[in-house]
Amino acid sequence: MTIRETFQTPGVHLSCEVFPPKAFDKLDDARAVVRAICQLRPAYVSVTYGAAGNTQRFTQEISAYVQSLGVTALSHLTCVNATRDAVNGVLDALQAQGVHNVLALRGDLPEGAAFPTDAHFRHANELIAAIHAHGGFCVGAACYPEGHPEAFDRDRDLDSLRFKQDAGADFLTTQMFFDNTVLYQFLFRALKKGVTLPVSAGVMPVVNARQIRRILSLSSASLPQRFLAILDRFGRDPASMEKAGIAYATDQIIDLVANGVNHIHLYTMNRPDVARAIFQNLGPILEGSHE
Ligand code: FAD
Repeated sequence: MTIRETFQTPGVHLSCEVFPPKAFDKLDDARAVVRAICQLRPAYVSVTYGAAGNTQRFTQEISAYVQSLGVTALSHLTCVNATRDAVNGVLDALQAQGVHNVLALRGDLPEGAAFPTDAHFRHANELIAAIHAHGGFCVGAACYPEGHPEAFDRDRDLDSLRFKQDAGADFLTTQMFFDNTVLYQFLFRALKKGVTLPVSAGVMPVVNARQIRRILSLSSASLPQRFLAILDRFGRDPASMEKAGIAYATDQIIDLVANGVNHIHLYTMNRPDVARAIFQNLGPILEGSHE
């Protein structure tokens, strides 16, 4: 099934993100993570693409594995260093393995590097167009409720979502956020800009101090007082932080669903136990259409 079709079915769709291993000898561990996550019957499982495409082979391999378990795979693909031929090669390989959903991303250049003058792709909308030219894929793209860090301002960042929509994106997935009000305001502003694509809201359960550092280095997500109080009180107590992080993410998702957000993407950080706890907490909330 394509993700576009999944989003057209009634009900709440909770999907999960996994990342592939960096080395061949960790492939079995990654498969075990994927098996445990697929047992939760998520709407789909997305598989990230290492910066500069350095885990490309494993992204394909894990995506094909997800499909083999009867769950729809969404394979991430970045274009920042890629040629058109290389992109078409990856798409051919995915198609041959039965993967028909791709998250089209620009990706990031290594720190300090500049775009070569002959770069084949400068922005994700160009990759989306290339995927459509290839044919046979449902295409997702990224969006940033608090603005992309490079964007001149949030208004121009929303223009780039129009470019993605006009290039043929089928849906958007958000960067993580910890304050649902930020998402509701973003959805409202995006609609005003004419962005009508379905949006899947990215929720990250923060269950340890390492993740907190990663979030702060990777994204400009603002952290609400309620979240900061949890970090202050439990950040140095791993067992308590895990419980509190799962509860916070569960609460965020319940509020999203209560406010009509039906597509939610869980950044699992390859922690099936954490994902399972959230699925269990939500129980019937995931099953009904609530309409
Ligand atoms: P773009 O859409 O190209 O946007 C980049 C910047 O350029 C923005 O500031 C935007 O406003 C601006 N812009 C966009 N289009 C235009 C245009 N046509 N003209 C002028 N300006 C424009 N990275 C990985 O390496 N691997 C992954 O697997 C991965 N998965 C991700 C999943 C999600 C859900 C998200 C939100 C991000 C993910 N990333 C991943 C990170 C992503 O690659 C970076 O955030 C990157 O900096 C931007 O990617 P993009 O596709 O949003 O780029």
